Amino acid sequence: ERMKAGLAKSREKLQESLNVLLKAGPDVDDDFWDDLEETLILSDMGARAAEKIVEELRDAATRKALPDAAAVLSELEDRIADTFYTPEANPLDTRPLCVLFVGVNGSGKTTTTGKLAAEAKANGSTVVLGAADTFRAAAIEQLEEWARRSDVTIVERERGSDPASVCFETIEVAERESADLVLVDTAGRLHTSDDLMRELRKVCDVVRKRSKAPVLTVLVIDATTGQNGLSQARVFNDALALDGVIITKLDGTAKGGIALAVSHELQLPILKIGVGEGIEDLRDFDAHDFARALVG
Ligand code: GDP
Repeated sequence: ERMKAGLAKSREKLQESLNVLLKAGPDVDDDFWDDLEETLILSDMGARAAEKIVEELRDAATRKALPDAAAVLSELEDRIADTFYTPEANPLDTRPLCVLFVGVNGSGKTTTTGKLAAEAKANGSTVVLGAADTFRAAAIEQLEEWARRSDVTIVERERGSDPASVCFETIEVAERESADLVLVDTAGRLHTSDDLMRELRKVCDVVRKRSKAPVLTVLVIDATTGQNGLSQARVFNDALALDGVIITKLDGTAKGGIALAVSHELQLPILKIGVGEGIEDLRDFDAHDFARALVG
């Protein structure tokens, strides 16, 4: 239900176009399918995912009749769900685990780190946070606040410190405390984006070498940026070989389809979604629930 509320704007936008389309159909001709593809692209699902979904829908319509609008919508929902890259188990549930959150400034990295710390703590995990965004003083303070709220350990140094050494120390502290989960917040902006990628690569290398626990590199994407989120995902994935993504701010946007574009085009799982600013506003991602919330 919360997911459905969160995706209200994305759903309204898609439904408006689908309704117009379905009133005419599904006495289908090529125009119908072209228009449907256009509708899906306009809802930010990405050209490749849209093409695949429409192709499969066309196939389905040939194999079994899709007699009415409800049948088309139900088939559309299944095709959207299947187009997500979905692992058998959510890698975020692994313990022990170390997670590096990366993403541009304002995407929701610090908030997501805090929400996940609270969730894991509530589920009985021992959590250590690492404040490796040493570029912004506010980022360190913000993470401190989240650590206080969920009563977990935080490792931090003053602004301007070497983020790789903060990571090193975070992992040391986590091992001493036998922590189940290490969550590291990283910088989203440096002087140039080359600087940023160089720094993040170094941070990833240190953590991957030093951590005994498996390491996940997770990109946090702000859904309201739409297609821009897809280009960000390409850049970060090329530089860091991502393990998954978290999509935030799905509560305030009609661009929820971006989740599908990123997952399909980069073959990456959506590990969680953010549907608000509060500590409890992080949701598990389920492709079918998501598709249903978008279409119906
Ligand atoms: P960072 O720069 O990537 O660390 O981003 P922050 O965690 O500081 O988040 C930037 C802003 O986005 C803050 O005002 C957050 O409260 C807000 N935010 C983060 N996640 C969500 C979300 O899922 N929904 C909404 N509505 N706001 C969010």
